[in-house]
Amino acid sequence: MDNRRNMYFYARKDDQTKEQISTLSDLAERYGFTIVRDSSAANIIVSVGGDGAFLQAVRKTGFRQDCLYAGVSTSGRRSLYCDFHIDDLSSMIEAMTKEKIEVRRFPTIQVSVDNEASFLCLNEFSIRSGIIKTFVMDVYIDELHFEAFRGDGMIISTPTGSTAYNKSVGGAVVDPMLSCMQVSELASLNNNRFRTLGSSFILSEERKLRLEITQDGNDYPVMGLDNEALGVSHVKTVDLMMSDQVVKTVKLKDNSFWEKVKRSFL
Ligand code: NAP
Repeated sequence: MDNRRNMYFYARKDDQTKEQISTLSDLAERYGFTIVRDSSAANIIVSVGGDGAFLQAVRKTGFRQDCLYAGVSTSGRRSLYCDFHIDDLSSMIEAMTKEKIEVRRFPTIQVSVDNEASFLCLNEFSIRSGIIKTFVMDVYIDELHFEAFRGDGMIISTPTGSTAYNKSVGGAVVDPMLSCMQVSELASLNNNRFRTLGSSFILSEERKLRLEITQDGNDYPVMGLDNEALGVSHVKTVDLMMSDQVVKTVKLKDNSFWEKVKRSFL
């Protein structure tokens, strides 16, 4: 790890956070890390905040494949992406200075809108009606027309995102050692004209999902990439599949995904 010691901090710019970062920087420099101001010069990117800050850090730095990401929580607890706590930074330095760092790889979803722009998601892609009316879309799995959906929308989550929005709508929690995406409905209408599966389903990394949005006046659905809104209107098709890009974090002892799930929910 000797040649990978450029550390970049991603955090809010308020006074309290600045002070926390200054303490963190001093400690890191004492252990031989160089603090860089430009994320492109970093090989370790540390978010300071919560899971929301971690999602932003990954997105704003471009889902770097040649970087390790670490989340430092500033609330009273560690969270899904925050393996470290601001009051116990020595454990982060210890993990980063280990001779052989074990890496955990989190799967991401690739989203293409109208065969043009392409984006990555670490938690989920969500699509929801932008107006009071329900909106309609045809759902294809590979080439198969699977269902005609009418309702509020859908969430397509990664395994690490399965404990977020997906879980709030009754989706299953999925082990991130499986590279797969989970499709969960938001208030589907089920009647003699519209019929959906009604339960969440999980697609393997070999599968592709296509959403074809019916242009019936509800052409401005609200689309979300993790915690960022996607500002595209008149969307006709959204294609989703597992990406070969991953988000790398440090693998720690006694901190498996299921330990995180237990400490967050049980
Ligand atoms: P937020 O609306 O301020 O907070 C959402 C909450 O979800 C926060 O407590 C956040 O943790 C937590 N969270 C984020 N990712 C998680 C994960 N993978 N597993 C478990 N909990 C997670 O928004 P935010 O903090 O920027 O987070 C964005 C995420 O919020 C979205 O990606 C989406 O999954 C989720 N969301 C959930 C709902 C819902 O449940 N009804 C609605 C919209 C969005 P921290 O407090 O540590 O940041």
